[in-house]
Amino acid sequence: MNIVLLGAPGAGKGTQASLIAEQYQIPHISTGDIFRKNIKEQTPIGVVAKSYIDKGDLVPDDVTVEIVKNRLEEDDCKNGFILDGFPRNVYQAEALLKIAELDVVLDVDVPLEDLMARLTGRRVCSGCGESYHVSTLGGRNTCAKCGENLYQRADDNEQTVSERLEVYRENTQPLIDYYKSKKLLKSVNGAQDKEKVFDEVRSVLDNL
Ligand code: AMP
Repeated sequence: MNIVLLGAPGAGKGTQASLIAEQYQIPHISTGDIFRKNIKEQTPIGVVAKSYIDKGDLVPDDVTVEIVKNRLEEDDCKNGFILDGFPRNVYQAEALLKIAELDVVLDVDVPLEDLMARLTGRRVCSGCGESYHVSTLGGRNTCAKCGENLYQRADDNEQTVSERLEVYRENTQPLIDYYKSKKLLKSVNGAQDKEKVFDEVRSVLDNL
């Protein structure tokens, strides 16, 4: 199954992508994670990506498309994949059309006004990548799953989040209509517990 997950920053795409990957045994490919790994390892791609990510802007399309193309050519994608964070604009969507055939595009729908609080309060596990919100942590700073420390992403500050949400509205939201017109779009309500969101996701995927 070849799946694209759409949704604004903070909509819970990463969480749903991990759950889908586990349940359906397909790789979870997050362009944001790939960039963060490159930044940590200070690769040439990481150096380029950091200057855009720190401002909340999109990394240039040529760099991003090349990364995704190479990743989708790997063996583990033969039986399907789940793309999280790509495509983020119509140019990338058109490029993806030439690389792979999609079975479904899942839009995780959350009211835009909820996203600032979700993102600025987000804490991520440095070990397994699990996401939490400060309001549920009760001051704890370690992961309930693996025990590693939690951290706040550098781009989850208020100013960068504002820019990311604006970039989403301008560049990524139009993809909803784009994929609707291609009859690939299914929406799930992302404004509920992650288990409930995943119930909806499963019901869509099992009925394809
Ligand atoms: P994410 O983890 O998906 O929120 O992505 C974090 C940041 O990585 C974004 O704000 C962008 O700067 C960059 N990024 C991730 N995916 C893409 C993409 N498909 N195109 C361009 N930039 C991206």
